[in-house]
Amino acid sequence: MIKQRILVVGAGFAGAVLARELAESGHYLIDVIDSRSHIAGNCFDPYDDKMQLRIHQYGPHIFHTNDKGIFDYLSRFTQWLPYEHKVEALVEGIGFVPFPINIKTINLLYNKSFSKESEMKIFLSQLCEHHSKIENARHAAENLYGKELVELFFARYTKKMWDLELEELPASIVARLPVRYDDRSGYFDDKFQAMPKDGYITLFKNLLNHADIKVHLQTSFERTMEVKYTHVFNSMAIDEYYDFEFEALPYRSIKYDHQYKNDHYQPVPTINMTDLGPITRYTDWRLYPGCGSTESQAIVSYESPCSYEDNNNERYYPVKTVDDIPQTRYKKYERLSLENKKCTFIGRCGQYRYLDMHQVAANSRVIAKKFMLS
Ligand SMILES: Cc1cc2nc3c(=O)[nH]c(=O)nc-3n(C[C@H](O)[C@H](O)[C@H](O)COP(=O)(O)OP(=O)(O)OC[C@H]3O[C@@H](n4cnc5c(N)ncnc54)[C@H](O)[C@@H]3O)c2cc1C
Repeated sequence: MIKQRILVVGAGFAGAVLARELAESGHYLIDVIDSRSHIAGNCFDPYDDKMQLRIHQYGPHIFHTNDKGIFDYLSRFTQWLPYEHKVEALVEGIGFVPFPINIKTINLLYNKSFSKESEMKIFLSQLCEHHSKIENARHAAENLYGKELVELFFARYTKKMWDLELEELPASIVARLPVRYDDRSGYFDDKFQAMPKDGYITLFKNLLNHADIKVHLQTSFERTMEVKYTHVFNSMAIDEYYDFEFEALPYRSIKYDHQYKNDHYQPVPTINMTDLGPITRYTDWRLYPGCGSTESQAIVSYESPCSYEDNNNERYYPVKTVDDIPQTRYKKYERLSLENKKCTFIGRCGQYRYLDMHQVAANSRVIAKKFMLS
């Protein structure tokens, strides 16, 4: 039997899972290319030998899902360390407070001693606004927390993160945060929350370790490559593939400043800033399970958002606004892509959607299955 040749662009979750699924069918020979010098996409977590610490080079990646199927699937390629993600916010004049806002946050900020959910609910009901039509993220957030808390925890962070006002963003971005009326401090509510025991790079090595998969690093996609293959699965930015025919799709990016620190203390792995400075959050890698030592010096990574053009075209977060301009532009690219029988767009930049790791992995499995049945 002659195996069909497939090209996969991108060795992140989208490409690696897709390649694996096709390879396991036994019908394909898959070339995976990536323009970077490493596999694992944005989950790349190299080990710093000097500090004996693993850091996530493109920002903290916490695996969390309610999808048992995808958790079990990925468990074939990694063991896990259970980890419930914790974030606190640094508030001027007060210090660290739990985030998402919970009963302890309110007690610390307003000098209260609430212990019951009912007390928290009554207090918040006095603070919160009553926008009858929720047209944007500000309305959604103010209906939950009121103007003062929204300014402190959401409006400033949003301005830094997106260079947009809350009014310009859809209400759905607020829906991603859990609302806590008790003292629970976990950032996510998902059933499965964990970090890969030996890091993401090992998980990706195992995913891509198959006789019918060949990985070519430092290899950028060019259209002329397509002729050699039956089909291309492509996780590059869809607007770039089409030479920006309908103008560029906007993305936010982040610059990371990884600093070696003596005597550093923070109570939880990630701290959100609530001030007006450029940094949104910082991470102490010693506090993540599987990242290494809990003693001595720290590597602390500070995040400053920026446009992707200011960061070597590193596209991180697709921007969606209430005016629908980016979404409408993407739809034009999507329409073109649906006529393209040679290439299927996958992943965060191929589909212009913010997707968590488990969603990207699950999508790639579905796309591979559909392709194999076609
Ligand atoms: C800062 C940040 C934090 C995140 N935190 C979490 C988290 O905590 N939990 C979670 O579940 N998800 C998180 N995510 C989302 C997660 O990163 C994505 O779900 C996942 O990386 C998407 O996989 P992907 O393969 O689509 O993209 P990527 O991981 O970006 O991989 C795409 C690959 O394609 C390559 N490529 C692009 N263009 C070309 C080209 N022209 N030629 C060759 N190669 C190319 C790139 O070099 C890259 O390696 C986070 C994302 C960001 C940006």
